[in-house]
Amino acid sequence: MLSKSLIRGAAATLFALAASLVHAQYPTKSITMLVPFAAGGPTDIVARVMAQAMGKPLGQTIIVENRPSNGGILAPEQLTKSSPDGYTILIHHIGMSTAPFLYRTLRYKPQEDFEYIGLINEVPMTIIARGNFPAANFKEFLTYIKANNAKVTYANAGLGAASHLCGMLFMSAIQTDFLTVPYKGTAPAMNDLLGGQVDFMCDQTTSTTSHIKSGKVKVFAVTTPQRVASLKDVPTLEELGVKGADVSVWHGMYAPKGTPKSALDKLVSALQVALKDPVVATRFAELGTEPIDVKRATPEALRTFLKSEMDKWGPLIKKAGQYAD
Ligand code: ASP
Repeated sequence: MLSKSLIRGAAATLFALAASLVHAQYPTKSITMLVPFAAGGPTDIVARVMAQAMGKPLGQTIIVENRPSNGGILAPEQLTKSSPDGYTILIHHIGMSTAPFLYRTLRYKPQEDFEYIGLINEVPMTIIARGNFPAANFKEFLTYIKANNAKVTYANAGLGAASHLCGMLFMSAIQTDFLTVPYKGTAPAMNDLLGGQVDFMCDQTTSTTSHIKSGKVKVFAVTTPQRVASLKDVPTLEELGVKGADVSVWHGMYAPKGTPKSALDKLVSALQVALKDPVVATRFAELGTEPIDVKRATPEALRTFLKSEMDKWGPLIKKAGQYAD
């Protein structure tokens, strides 16, 4: 007769074998990619390019699911409650590093509650205004917003969004406050800017470039230390004498804590293949961004960068004394 412990041992081995076989076949069905902002905004635009490109090497469809909320805090929270099986992943931007300092009641810890897949890209931001804004250049823009700050409206993608951070830095750099109008993503904010209901905003080239090129919005500056290749006539804030408002938005990809290593490895490899895909490079160039060096499309690089961004933004946000809740 076999002893009980021998049977238990054999059952455990069989179970482990079955589990590893299941994960070796991963993925056997479509994967959901959570997006923390509204469809049609910059994060969503990058997500859809990546979903398409990563689906190819994985041999499965990646379905984009928008979970818009103020500052994009709902989608990461949903990820923490998702099954850690490799079938739910999250794309998020710089907000992953700023949310802990903007929200007192955040229900996840960016450095503890996730598995990391890798970095994707960095995106410059642009200061743009409605098409009929009464200024022809940055100097006139600055004079106008300073003189009319009590009625000038600044749209952002919700408290805690990158556009909120940019606006906060810009206001403090030019020492002027404006009326802030928060939305649940750039897409609805941009609609109101295009319709002339709000005056200006700061947002990523991934969603602003086409409107700048078609002349539907006016552009006054880019927020990176260097000019942006696809918008080379647009000066940087630093060139215009505005110091301390530099910001560029980065995207990373995450999975629920406890996702098996075999599934994570396949996701990391699909991310790296996608970043080398010429279709991605071309689309990113049109959007004013470029794929990150694949050496940084790794869990370790994302973990390290996330920490350095938290170390950078935490003290600045605390100093500004702004909370979103
Ligand atoms: N990226 C935008 C922001 O944080 C939000 C969005 O993607 O809609 O401002």
